[in-house]
Amino acid sequence: MSIQQVPFITLNRFEPGFRDEFLNGVASLFDKTQFVGGPIVAEMEANLAAFTKSKHAIGCANGTDAIQIALRAVGVEKNDKVLVPDMTFWATFEAVVNVGANPVTVDVHRDTCHWDLATFKKAVEQFKPKAAVMVHLYGWASPDTMEIRKFAKDAGVLLIEDGAQCFGTEIEGQSILGSALISTTSFYPAKVLGASGDAGAIFTANDEYAKNCRTLINHGRTDHYSHGMIGWNSRIGAYESLFLNMSLKHISARIESRMKAVKFYTEALQGLPFKPVRAGAKVTENGYCQVGMIDPALRPALIETLKKANIGHGTIYPGAMSLQSGAKDHLAGKIDNGNAHYISQAVLNLPCFAYITTEELQYVCDTVKKHF
Ligand SMILES: *Cc1c(COP(=O)(O)O)cnc(C)c1O
Repeated sequence: MSIQQVPFITLNRFEPGFRDEFLNGVASLFDKTQFVGGPIVAEMEANLAAFTKSKHAIGCANGTDAIQIALRAVGVEKNDKVLVPDMTFWATFEAVVNVGANPVTVDVHRDTCHWDLATFKKAVEQFKPKAAVMVHLYGWASPDTMEIRKFAKDAGVLLIEDGAQCFGTEIEGQSILGSALISTTSFYPAKVLGASGDAGAIFTANDEYAKNCRTLINHGRTDHYSHGMIGWNSRIGAYESLFLNMSLKHISARIESRMKAVKFYTEALQGLPFKPVRAGAKVTENGYCQVGMIDPALRPALIETLKKANIGHGTIYPGAMSLQSGAKDHLAGKIDNGNAHYISQAVLNLPCFAYITTEELQYVCDTVKKHF
């Protein structure tokens, strides 16, 4: 039967046997009443550290908590200024406010959709922030990542990296999550490495930061009834850890499948007003999403065509952070070159998920080509 529809994403394409292995594992944890913590969490964290080439991998409740915990772990305090990109998911901005700090939005580069060194430098000089949260969107990263890291280090700015979308990516041959001062990720089910519910993790090579993270995740506990700081309950669940541990065995195949899709789109959609955007040569991508740019005036009609053809789409993300109604009471400053706003109006994402078929990709590409 020929393809009549393609969802933007679907979570239901698991490897053969995955479902039964998971449900059997859940039964075993249930029988042992291992619901929070336990050997499965430690095993999963060890595999996570190995895959990301991190010294420490610390599981937590979700990707937003992970950013908050990382901010606190490096010493960000009330009223500190923290730079965040103007183009990101709202959680990045929210996390800064939730630890009592003051976010400053810094615009991204129009071509890469990520921070560039020159704008980052300008923001550091102008706002003298305590910290910055660099975000690696779309399954890739800024080509200036290494230069931004070095500049931040020399300037004494604590650089946290929100890697919720960049699990499994590399820059100049190094794991992005594993080579950061401290980085975070989300295991929300739709992410590249998704869990069976909400979950997240923090990665660092710094022993003191890692210890702070473990303390902050568990009520600031220094031992069972001693509390050294105000933390949270952000422990990761055992079922989620089991699911993640199993998924890690398949992650390379899933990333390969996603990358096949991204490459298919790039090749099939050449020369159209809808222009696929990819990472530069320094970055090895993970295929988290397909990203294309189109003249904002032409976007609504293409979306209409996709809808009529039962093809899902995304606009990641449809608004700059500094322009969100929730931002105005918290914004401590901004560098706004209009790029985040432009991207929010020009970006369009086509279906992309692990194990999407060639037939599905062909149907989407034929629909887009016919539209033009
Ligand atoms: C998904 C995401 C988050 C938040 O993760 P949750 O697990 O949903 O809390 C933060 N930052 C970015 C860039 C994300 O994509």
